[in-house]
Amino acid sequence: MTVSSTLVWFRLDLRLDDQPALHAAVARGGPVVPVYIWDPDAEGEWAPGAANRWWTHQALQRLESQLRDAGSRLVVRQGESLTVLRELIAETGASAVFWNRCYQPAIIARDADIKATLRDSGLEVHSFNGGLLFEPWTIRTRTGTPYRVFTPFSRACLAAPSPGSAIAPVERIPELSIWPESVALEDLELEPTIRWDAGLKATWDSQITRSNPVENGVHPEMLAGYRTDRDRPALPATSRLSPFLQIGAVSVRRLWSEVNGMVHGHPDPAVRLGGEGFQRQLLWREFAYHLLYHAPETVNAPLRPEFARFPWVRDADALCAWQQGRTGFPLVDAGMRQLWRTGWMHNRVRMLVGSFLVKDLRINWQEGARWFWQTLIDADLANNTMGWQWIAGCGADASPYFRIFNPTTQGERFDPDGAYVRQWVPELVGLPSTWIHRPSEAPEEVLANAGVRLGISYPLPMVDHAVAREAALAALATIKR
Ligand code: FAD
Repeated sequence: MTVSSTLVWFRLDLRLDDQPALHAAVARGGPVVPVYIWDPDAEGEWAPGAANRWWTHQALQRLESQLRDAGSRLVVRQGESLTVLRELIAETGASAVFWNRCYQPAIIARDADIKATLRDSGLEVHSFNGGLLFEPWTIRTRTGTPYRVFTPFSRACLAAPSPGSAIAPVERIPELSIWPESVALEDLELEPTIRWDAGLKATWDSQITRSNPVENGVHPEMLAGYRTDRDRPALPATSRLSPFLQIGAVSVRRLWSEVNGMVHGHPDPAVRLGGEGFQRQLLWREFAYHLLYHAPETVNAPLRPEFARFPWVRDADALCAWQQGRTGFPLVDAGMRQLWRTGWMHNRVRMLVGSFLVKDLRINWQEGARWFWQTLIDADLANNTMGWQWIAGCGADASPYFRIFNPTTQGERFDPDGAYVRQWVPELVGLPSTWIHRPSEAPEEVLANAGVRLGISYPLPMVDHAVAREAALAALATIKR
């Protein structure tokens, strides 16, 4: 008996390796039709931002080429997902639709509708886990409630049945004899027409074309330095795999098991510890998805309700200075410029710039979350929401609001020789390390020798940190009353 074709609907799983939906479709027999639908309206106000759209384009190009190598194609369409799926079902005679699950609240609701509607029309519809180690509903406290604190959550994950081994990449995909029409990727207009993306291209082009980003991002030497160096933004000490995980170009299950293989029985304890530390970060990602699933309202509202009363300051000029990296605090400015230029920022610096916005400037964390959403190529609703609520002290297991980073001493601690600042804030390149994080305190002669003209070539600090700190604590006191 000939089996009619299966549509495989690609979403945030743009790869052939460890691809449960594709794997199941091939195993079902019959032709397989890989499909991508550009349907940003389904995500409402959290539709992909400008930098992530650019990244989506690159990842789709990569997927197209992988599919071609496997004897197949990618059918690209745009429009309302259910309508497009129905058109494709009619055009190909497909009797089944498979996909890997997404966890953004709006997408969960949409997918549930699509599943019910297609099943009602007699189609075989299956969804799979292709994005997480532990799906949000599988990890529960002893009393059956979701977790709100990371450490017990991570312990529960480690005690749960293992995520299992990754599935080998699909090498040959059964072809359709007549392919449905596809629009060209360029027609989706994911790349900007005014080409502001040169820095993104320069940073990520070579990464996306690598056949194995996992091997490139994580290896024993990297793990050996992970614990000691992962907070040093000038060093290439972290994996930089976040964009690949966000779009699903890398499978988290593959990454997890590769790290297990690397550290298992490794003679160097630093590698073993580094592996543990790295896997802990992957569990933070799982925690973020757990929170997003169980508290979907947190994308727009603080998890801790008293923070809805926080007296945030509205100051468009201050927000703009922060966005453009003109605060007068070198590490903050370096981070914001790295973000603008490359679409990525080091985690330690994300925490610092976030703290500066919500504490030194007392601007609502949601303004920061929205700016990151537009500018990060790895913009991920779960990680971004958790990151900002953590910084603002209003999320689950968050850093308390009263713990306020000092942007100058953070610079001296994590960028001691100023290499990161020199890379991203070239107007300070000539300052000696002693003054690189405190240009406003440097002697006139030092500034003159370095060619720095405060207030002209580089801004004066936009706030007095000690004063701003007191104001932040006073604002916090008002919501506690
Ligand atoms: P590595 O250190 O190599 O870690 C490996 C992977 O673990 C990362 O790729 C990521 O998937 C996960 N991970 C690491 N740290 C965290 C963390 N703190 N929370 C959740 N997952 C983590 N990450 C995003 O992927 N998208 C975002 O939109 C995002 N927004 C953030 C906003 C703020 C305010 C903060 C403080 C953090 C945010 N993060 C976000 C988390 C973190 O900064 C990045 O995941 C990390 O910097 C990526 O670099 P890496 O891949 O080299 O990390």
